[in-house]
Amino acid sequence: MEYSHRYRAYPSDEVAEGLEHHLNVHRQLYNHVRWDYENSPEDDKPGEYDQNNELPEWKRKWPVFGDLHSKAAQATVARFHRNLSHLRKKKEKGYTVGRLKRQSPAEYRSVTYNQSGFDLDEKRGHDKYAYVRFSKIGWVKIRYSRPIPDQATIKEVTFKKERTGEWFVSFGLETDDEHIPEKPDVDSLDARNSVGIDLGILNYIHTSDGKTVEWLDLEDDSERLRCEQRKLSRKVKVSDNYEKQRREVAKVKRHIKRKVLDYQHKITTWLVTEYDAVFVEDLDVAGMLQGDGNARNKQDAAWRQFITLLEYKGDLYGTHVKQVEPRGTTKECARCGVETPKPIWVREHSCPSCGFETDRDANAAMNVLQRGFEKLGLGWPEDTPVETVTATDTADFQRVSASHVLETGSLPS
Ligand SMILES: [Zn+2]
Repeated sequence: MEYSHRYRAYPSDEVAEGLEHHLNVHRQLYNHVRWDYENSPEDDKPGEYDQNNELPEWKRKWPVFGDLHSKAAQATVARFHRNLSHLRKKKEKGYTVGRLKRQSPAEYRSVTYNQSGFDLDEKRGHDKYAYVRFSKIGWVKIRYSRPIPDQATIKEVTFKKERTGEWFVSFGLETDDEHIPEKPDVDSLDARNSVGIDLGILNYIHTSDGKTVEWLDLEDDSERLRCEQRKLSRKVKVSDNYEKQRREVAKVKRHIKRKVLDYQHKITTWLVTEYDAVFVEDLDVAGMLQGDGNARNKQDAAWRQFITLLEYKGDLYGTHVKQVEPRGTTKECARCGVETPKPIWVREHSCPSCGFETDRDANAAMNVLQRGFEKLGLGWPEDTPVETVTATDTADFQRVSASHVLETGSLPS
């Protein structure tokens, strides 16, 4: 099984400078790999292997590339070719795709060390901290909120600078399938390795750290189902044709079900590998609150399946999954707790009491996160996402499309 552990990192100023420098040079390398590819003749495009072989020559020409660790440089070449193959797959599926773009500093935020060039020192940090060394850069302190299991092999290590300026280090791990990772200590949870989720109406889910995952587009499938059902209604009951058509309808229904399940598998796997704790509304209570229209029931059934999967994956990957009281998550202000009624069409949360402004669903997701912490008996840390998310951040919310989830099987971290 492959999964990852992500930790908040606290590099010293000097090391942070090194990380920035490497990030920048890796970005230049990526752009050069792209340039080299784009400017090669159509019938003689270089592959990943060819470009890896070019690396020594590029280092001679541009000494700055010599600053990079060689395996990390290869991982950057690999990144370009991975993106290229994603693009190709999309094109094969009939999407209109452009070319891969040059990466600006705002877009290029992470560097991966593959197989070598890093060390982990679990003993050097005091109490809940550890150190990881990146070759040619130095030691980086991380908040070691959950230990890497003894049975796990570290395949790669990535450092990343988020838009907020915070650094993170994540370890790509692999274990035998029979090994089940332990859940992290409840005390080690904090607002940054945990997430609250609002099960949405407009978006599929909205996370407390500002990610939205959009609805799976089932428009075509639903249309086909309606069409087959219309045909069925015109057949004489208890005829061969009726029976045949009935099977046709069942087939389309199965197809839709499988598609939804597959999608939910991908989202839940992403959530439990990305976070140490995932909190979600308790649907039994939510259902009672909202009354039951038929559409609502159908929606509830889908969410119930989603939560069941989420809990199952939580046990499988060693991640806390808890359901919390859903009452008032939308009305309540995530910063000050004052309740303001909010009709469904009001998409913004704007608190008349403390002035906190954010997206309606983001506010609800933050409340879910806070309630999850209360439920686990944890105090609410001062360093909350509520304090860092501002109205302007809302525009930056990372929208993740359904097709992206289906294409890549995982969501960007
Ligand atoms: Zn408020």
